[in-house]
Amino acid sequence: MLSQLLKITPRVLTHEPMSKHTSFGVGGVADFFVTIENRSELERLLQLVQQYHIPSLIIGSGTNLVVRDKGIRGLVIRLAGEFRQIIVEHNLIRAGAGALLSKAVSIAAKNELSGLEFAAGIPGTIGGAIVGNAGTETGCIGNIVNQVEVLFVDGRLERLTRDSVEFSYRNSNLRKYIVINAELLLTKRDFLGIISTMNSILKKRQNAQPKGMGAGSIFKNPEGTFAWKLIRDTLPDGMRIGGAYISPKHANFILADKGAKADDVLRLMAYVQEQVKKDCGVELVAEVRVIGEEFDLSDWSDQSDNS
Ligand SMILES: Cc1cc2nc3c(=O)[nH]c(=O)nc-3n(C[C@H](O)[C@H](O)[C@H](O)COP(=O)(O)OP(=O)(O)OC[C@H]3O[C@@H](n4cnc5c(N)ncnc54)[C@H](O)[C@@H]3O)c2cc1C
Repeated sequence: MLSQLLKITPRVLTHEPMSKHTSFGVGGVADFFVTIENRSELERLLQLVQQYHIPSLIIGSGTNLVVRDKGIRGLVIRLAGEFRQIIVEHNLIRAGAGALLSKAVSIAAKNELSGLEFAAGIPGTIGGAIVGNAGTETGCIGNIVNQVEVLFVDGRLERLTRDSVEFSYRNSNLRKYIVINAELLLTKRDFLGIISTMNSILKKRQNAQPKGMGAGSIFKNPEGTFAWKLIRDTLPDGMRIGGAYISPKHANFILADKGAKADDVLRLMAYVQEQVKKDCGVELVAEVRVIGEEFDLSDWSDQSDNS
């Protein structure tokens, strides 16, 4: 397998710790971690994946992920090189899926294009943002998407217009594809106006959100209320399990100490869900994506015996 991958690209890592590729900094190793820089490499890689039925997963900056401690059996793909390009054409920004959202935000501002201000301070790539419809209460990326280019696992390329993509609260129907690039439709606005909106959004974010190793909001806000309020009203400030704890600054942020286990994070998430359900009758739904091999029951009892 390694030799086949190396025929496609020299950028192949084996037994790569996923803690290095996620903002949570937890999780086990991926069997193979491949950085792909152009379409031809990606198409050849997908052929290989098809031919050998290799389980594979594409990631962006890993800012919305918890990778389980057992890691990922198969292939993790990261887009770089030409997938990081951002081109401006009149009111449109065409951004590769591997480009940073923050770069698109600043390029939009420099070109006096408005519509991305809401995304100031949201980490991650265009691909991750599009697939998860990243946003805040002031906007979401789905609102400004003009079209998205996607690859099917069989290598087929398709251009999806705005109408054929379904965006919902922190979700879309694009998870089954590989997003290659997206075209964002923006409107003209003066530079100072854009900067002033962005600055106030960033200030609000700094005041409300903690710094540390995490993945932003852990749970989606339930209809009509905020996840942080329910958690704050249910659990003690700063409650922790192992190396994972609820941020005292923002109860919907779980942060991890250096060296924490994904299992600490997952057990804390499960505990929060259980307690909020018990006290408030509300089922919190995870906003972060939990990926990787699961513990089987014997692993689980081994773990609890040790703790
Ligand atoms: C401090 C902090 C603050 C945050 N604030 C916000 C916020 O205000 N609003 C918000 O919405 N989010 C927020 N997040 C969460 C996160 O930044 C976003 O969800 C972001 O859009 C994820 O992008 P990513 O590139 O890191 O994706 P990843 O975490 O790498 O991946 C997320 C999902 O997208 C899929 N994916 C990634 N790229 C592609 C692709 N090219 N094709 C197909 N699937 C792909 C992955 O398989 C995975 O399922 C925050 C995170 C942190 C750490």
